[in-house]
Amino acid sequence: MTNPTPTEVDILIVGAGPTGLFAAYYAGFRELSTAIVDALPEPGGQVTAMYPEKMIFDVAGFPAVRGRDLVTALVEQTDQWKPTYLLGRQALTLSEVDDGFDVGLDGGTVIRAGAVLITAGMGEFSPRPLPAGDGWLGRGVVHFVPAPEVHRGQDIVVVGGGDSAFDWALSLHPIARSVTLVHRRNKFRAFASTVRQVQELGVPIITDAQVVELRGDAAGLAEVELSVKAESGQEKRVLPAQTVVAALGFTADLGPIESWGLEIERRAIAVDSTMRTARARIYAAGDIAGYPGKVKLIATGFGEAATAVNNIAVALDPDAHLFPGHSSDVS
Ligand SMILES: Cc1cc2nc3c(=O)[nH]c(=O)nc-3n(C[C@H](O)[C@H](O)[C@H](O)COP(=O)(O)OP(=O)(O)OC[C@H]3O[C@@H](n4cnc5c(N)ncnc54)[C@H](O)[C@@H]3O)c2cc1C
Repeated sequence: MTNPTPTEVDILIVGAGPTGLFAAYYAGFRELSTAIVDALPEPGGQVTAMYPEKMIFDVAGFPAVRGRDLVTALVEQTDQWKPTYLLGRQALTLSEVDDGFDVGLDGGTVIRAGAVLITAGMGEFSPRPLPAGDGWLGRGVVHFVPAPEVHRGQDIVVVGGGDSAFDWALSLHPIARSVTLVHRRNKFRAFASTVRQVQELGVPIITDAQVVELRGDAAGLAEVELSVKAESGQEKRVLPAQTVVAALGFTADLGPIESWGLEIERRAIAVDSTMRTARARIYAAGDIAGYPGKVKLIATGFGEAATAVNNIAVALDPDAHLFPGHSSDVS
């Protein structure tokens, strides 16, 4: 999934959720080069951040598909055209130049693009940090578990009380030496059925507990200290842990895109039937794109991505055909 950062692409795609990934596939099919920026370190947008282990039943062609597997398949489909992924990066600024736009990313990188396709969903995602985990991110603390196998045989503490915390506990339980779920309250936001599944597996759940310290050495994380509410006051507990999954939720912020001179109403960018925004050569698709009757679904985003890319192809080259032909005609 790595390519050197190009300075110029035909389309810069902002957001590597399902819509952005499929748009990058479609752009490749039309022989347009792309770079895809996402604030998250993993592709998949809401699916990866909020429900990677859940089954999805309304993606055409899949009677049921696990969120994580849908994202893997989208990345595989897209990768045949070798887009450039700029993950863990924010798209901050947009300025018009003669033949397109300069989009400035955090860290000072500037990408020149003939057109920009905004597939930014609810906005830029940032995982809520684990306060006691300062300095441990990437050295034992993670927000995602893209490849559970990496954690085989480990002691793992999952922190959080929502769906993703319980989903991670379920997926890690068969391969970890131990999994413990720690939550600061004694009520959970996760679906009752998922909580029940975790309880039935015998995963220890420690409630009314806060992680107060992580300890380890240069080799990595070794243990976690908790402060647990007890009748006698706060009790200290220490658990072995080589990994802490901080599943404390995400914040979403449209932030920088709001200053790009687009028509934005109730967190949606207004588009016409070609998915063009109020500015030429800037298109939007997926959850972020708004028009009367819009329904926010993965399937909707896929269709809008194809419409946007085909129209961008014509905007970039007026001699290009809007209809690209059928993919089934290509051997
Ligand atoms: C719990 C839950 C269950 C769901 N179940 C279903 C279901 O069963 N079926 C279904 O069809 N839909 C479902 N949805 C909705 C579905 O996930 C969304 O419709 C879909 O993810 C939208 O895809 P997207 O690519 O448009 O946006 P997103 O998935 O939101 O991806 C947008 C990406 O853009 C990035 N981004 C935004 N701004 C910037 C910026 N300035 N710089 C860098 N990156 C940026 C974000 O970090 C994010 O990763 C569900 C949603 C939730 C929360």
